[in-house]
Amino acid sequence: MEANRKWLSIPEQTRKMLIGNVFCSQCLDAVTIKDFIITGDPAGVVLEGKCAACGHPVARVVEMDN
Ligand SMILES: [Zn+2]
Repeated sequence: MEANRKWLSIPEQTRKMLIGNVFCSQCLDAVTIKDFIITGDPAGVVLEGKCAACGHPVARVVEMDN
């Protein structure tokens, strides 16, 4: 399955939670990711974007069953 479709198969509430809970190594805190793209990963999908607070590049792996 294409990465973007995989991502969209996750319930919206869960997606919102994931988007708002990405670790930023600059802020040293959980932040909201912005301007992100979805890429494929053997474990699931990866969100790659920027920290909404400081603009530092951040990424989050979302592990999925398939
Ligand atoms: Zn940040």
